[in-house]
Amino acid sequence: MKPSITRVQGLRIVTRLCLTLATLGLAEAAPPVFRAGAATSNITPAIGADPNIRTSRPPAAHVHDELHARCLVLDDGQARLALVVCDLRHISAEVAANAKRIIEKLTGIPPHCVMISATHTHTSGGVKLEEREDEPYYDYSAFLTRRIAEGVLRAHNQLEPAQIAWGVVDEPTQVFNRRWFLIPGSRPVYGAHDNIEQVDTNPGYKGLLKPAGPVDPQITFLSLRSTSGKPISLMASYGLHYVGGIPPNTISADYFAIFADRVGELLGADRHQDPPFVGIMANGTSGDVNNLERHSDEELAKRGPQLNKRYQPFEKAREVAHLCADKVMAAHKTLQWHDHVKLTSLQRTLTLERRYPTKEEVAWAESVKARRIKPMSTSRYSTYSTVLAYASPEMPPTLDVTVQTHRIGDLALAAMPFEVFAEIGLELKQLSPIQPLMNVSIANGSHGYLPTPAQHQLGGYETWIGVNKVQLDASVKLVGALVEMLGELTR
Ligand SMILES: [Zn+2]
Repeated sequence: MKPSITRVQGLRIVTRLCLTLATLGLAEAAPPVFRAGAATSNITPAIGADPNIRTSRPPAAHVHDELHARCLVLDDGQARLALVVCDLRHISAEVAANAKRIIEKLTGIPPHCVMISATHTHTSGGVKLEEREDEPYYDYSAFLTRRIAEGVLRAHNQLEPAQIAWGVVDEPTQVFNRRWFLIPGSRPVYGAHDNIEQVDTNPGYKGLLKPAGPVDPQITFLSLRSTSGKPISLMASYGLHYVGGIPPNTISADYFAIFADRVGELLGADRHQDPPFVGIMANGTSGDVNNLERHSDEELAKRGPQLNKRYQPFEKAREVAHLCADKVMAAHKTLQWHDHVKLTSLQRTLTLERRYPTKEEVAWAESVKARRIKPMSTSRYSTYSTVLAYASPEMPPTLDVTVQTHRIGDLALAAMPFEVFAEIGLELKQLSPIQPLMNVSIANGSHGYLPTPAQHQLGGYETWIGVNKVQLDASVKLVGALVEMLGELTR
């Protein structure tokens, strides 16, 4: 005979059930805990190359400083967000998408809550060579994908109760628009053909009239510390292409990594603390902005003779990184810390028309081909074969790109898969319904330069077909979509 539940046993079960429900009720009432975790994952490619492979570019011979995927994971108790910034010149959409699939499997964080970007260090070895067969870094993609996913998993494993704060500072002395109008008649515009170009990219230092665009002087940053005050991570974004001054054939993460180390030092993070502090510097909107100080002839005359400092390798990168870190740290002292903020993420796929060459451009390219002009790699003549390739009906008519917006309390982040011109970033910051806005470019893919329609009118290197791949008004579509998404994040 089956033993029946006695009255006392029954009461015990009911009491236990109630206790469980009460515990659950208590857990629901308790405020959600905000947590943060950070980790770095080494992504330095192999140096040297298989001598049997014919390559278009020599591989690196020396590593000055290791490249990293710098990973930050945030958790508001309901939603999670993973931000990854890689010490790379570009990040391919395929690598980013594949890494996100693994990240979702390992941590459960869905792809739209994961941003993966590149700093745009020009000394990361791989460039985009990992995408082409018979190139030295061709087998690098699989390694990179795994290492990014592992970095996020390790940051996720380090999640601990945390406080968060953010701020914005100006550092206008290290950003210069690299596109210039020249004084008429002073000399021909670099790379010019048939008077198409009105501005010159990276011209010399004389004969300059005025820059063709603005710069974004802001460094936007967020900072995480444990509830006991130990620094966990600081992530910043600045609209500077890169600094350079690094010997050829040397792998280095440029000023981005020096900034990351320096903020750790200034925050008093112990190099061997557990888990280690992770500094991050992402690329803002710097498609037309670099670190080379140029002035108009008029300004030069006003300034009078100046002493031109000669820099040792890495010296300039260090100088810029330390300056940026000092600025951030001065503001850091007065930040308002939050015990909890809400996280929300949105992602959209934008289908953009690809760039089509005009009839005139095709005629020009045909004539260059017929005249057998020996193209220099730096002149517009080098683009004639690209113009003809883009004229071919075999090229796909559209390109799908991923854009994201993330809300972290009252800070928003916009992630764009291009080398975005500064004025686009400035417009976004002006239109964003959430303030402040942190812009991150070369994120979730890398589809060339993104000038505005007005900059396309002016011509110049970044507007050439091939380095620019999408419809001439793509920036208008991008800004429209991002502002709409930022609006949705406020609801
Ligand atoms: Zn570049």
